[in-house]
Amino acid sequence: MPVGRREASPGQCKSKPGTLRRKSFGQWAARPAFSRCRCVRTRGRCRLQGICFWKKARRLFWADPDLSEAFLMLVLGIESSCDETAASVVQDGRVALSDVVSSQIEIHRRYGGVVPELASRNHVMQVIPVVEEALSKAGVTLSDLDAIAVTSGPGLIGALLVGVQTAKALAWCSQKPLVGVNHLEGHLLAIRLLEDAPEPPFMGLVVSGGHTSLFDVRSFGDYRPVGSTRDDAAGEAYDKVAKMLGLPYPGGLPIDRLAKEGNPKAIRFPRANIKGDGAEFDFSFSGLKTAVRAWVEKNGCPEGQGLCDLCASFQEAVADPLTRKAVLAARRLGHQKVVLAGGVAANSRLRGLMQERARSAGLSLFLPPIRLCTDNGAMIAVAGTHAFLRGERAGMDLSASPGWHLGTPQPRKTFG
Ligand code: ADP
Ligand code: MG
Repeated sequence: MPVGRREASPGQCKSKPGTLRRKSFGQWAARPAFSRCRCVRTRGRCRLQGICFWKKARRLFWADPDLSEAFLMLVLGIESSCDETAASVVQDGRVALSDVVSSQIEIHRRYGGVVPELASRNHVMQVIPVVEEALSKAGVTLSDLDAIAVTSGPGLIGALLVGVQTAKALAWCSQKPLVGVNHLEGHLLAIRLLEDAPEPPFMGLVVSGGHTSLFDVRSFGDYRPVGSTRDDAAGEAYDKVAKMLGLPYPGGLPIDRLAKEGNPKAIRFPRANIKGDGAEFDFSFSGLKTAVRAWVEKNGCPEGQGLCDLCASFQEAVADPLTRKAVLAARRLGHQKVVLAGGVAANSRLRGLMQERARSAGLSLFLPPIRLCTDNGAMIAVAGTHAFLRGERAGMDLSASPGWHLGTPQPRKTFG
């Protein structure tokens, strides 16, 4: 293999035009005209870095000497759908060269939830510094990018608009292609940043502050909704229950911590039994939230062990239907793999119970690391890379679509 080996040290790798094989990646894959290769170390591995010339254009590429596979795609992902301003540069849809997240949690904490107007204003202040940091940490400039991807829905309208308008301005001034990404597709594909990432088809469960949905992921770009919450999202239930118990916002982590010391069988909270055609895989958490409120009104807000027991019992009532229905849906649709995604996927009991149930059903479970569960720019860049490879392009009329359902085309312009 003329492209060097893993143990090659910087300066020793040699690459000849036409010697690298690649899997796909558009027109560039068909024209291997590499030059100016040098060996550099990234993430402890030896890699070739080079410039590819074709039709007077110039692309930066990376090649892994072990895989003899060139990485041609560099996509910037921008996320601002709720209370995180985030940007990341992802190479080849698989490796995050940078991942910068500016969280507004401290700003919204005093109100016990996200205040949309404050969120938008803070995105305006943060978005440019966050994008600049993402580019500089990745060691690239706008001109090295292949595309710019941005969350264009669903989310808070004002918050989404900040990201969308920023991405449009960057794409316009750098003459780079622009791609609008559905936030939920981003969550589902965050798992692609793992080294042993699953390929579709798989059953995807997105559980976050704003969404709780099961998707039949047939291929990249083919997402079919199987079930979703009828009312509150699971993360929303966590945040509201935490507020009732006097715990800080966002409520997921404090409840998770207290629940570890509690007895999940102490209080039997209800599990919603949703009936009707096609409702088998739907969820509901608003009854559970009301049951916790009723319990607190009757018994008073517990402290010490009582608080831990209440948190553990609530957490069990969230994790139980989520895991049961995800496994059932995977088996029903003949999937071998299940992917958990979204902020609530960071929950220790949900992860543990999902592991138990997936194992006994003979399913392979893929759990993103905690930092990839909550909102980030890397997941948007990954989803953007796939959308770009599918040929999707947004124009300067790209709009923010607060109610965009994954699996349907983005609604036509209403804002922005
Ligand atoms: P959204 O995309 O809807 O803004 P995120 O994907 O950023 O939401 O997830 C935020 C949600 O995740 C919050 O509701 C938060 O309470 C919840 N969350 C974070 N960590 C945990 C945890 N360990 N257990 C349960 N919920 C959690
Ligand atoms: Mg999210």
